[in-house]
Amino acid sequence: MRKKVVWVLVIALLGGGFLGWGSLAAAQSGTAAALPIAGKVILIDPGHGGMDPGKTGSQGEDEKAINLSIATKLAVYLEMGGALVYMTRTEDETLGEGTKKEDMKLRAEQIQELKPDLFVSIHQNSYTDSQLWGPQVFYHTDSQKSEALAAKVQEQLNIFTGSKRQYKENADYFILRQGQDPGILVECGFLTNPEEEERLNEETYQKKIAWSIYSGMNAYLEEEENGNTMGEDGGD
Ligand SMILES: [Zn+2]
Repeated sequence: MRKKVVWVLVIALLGGGFLGWGSLAAAQSGTAAALPIAGKVILIDPGHGGMDPGKTGSQGEDEKAINLSIATKLAVYLEMGGALVYMTRTEDETLGEGTKKEDMKLRAEQIQELKPDLFVSIHQNSYTDSQLWGPQVFYHTDSQKSEALAAKVQEQLNIFTGSKRQYKENADYFILRQGQDPGILVECGFLTNPEEEERLNEETYQKKIAWSIYSGMNAYLEEEENGNTMGEDGGD
């Protein structure tokens, strides 16, 4: 059921006017093995899809489409960094027989079968107060590794977007309760904030978000390799 991201997709995306990032060029020229992400199995879950649009922005763009677009860009960066990337969906589809329940069950099964080194679910936020904006990372309450990953990804997102939001624990998200360690859910921004909604629909901003997540993952793994993972006991 799960789908390995194919290079055709990667190359097609790269043909779309990208390659301005210095470190990506470095990754291409053969230093990819040195990146912490190299060789890691990553599962990306673009939220919603098919019959389930997620939230719909005032410009009419569905959350599911923005999720997939950012997830695909993230997959490109990860592949270039040498990771083995899988996605729970690569198209606008509902998994299985077409019910939300089965769709979620099949996503959970992919997590349990693949046992990825890192898991990230991509979503867009909404709120009654349209002033609210900024990306926010969630992790499951019981996972210290997930908290450490959430902290790193939030840090990068805040650097790249200028937001000051804090990462947050959550005990309820179904997709974060499948035993992945670490795993996070990224709400990339608020579709209820008109300015942020506009940005979230822009290719350049989507790349910025994807790059931030990618950078946060590398930062997390680097710290873990050095044995400094936040939350691990034995420090004193
Ligand atoms: Zn969502």
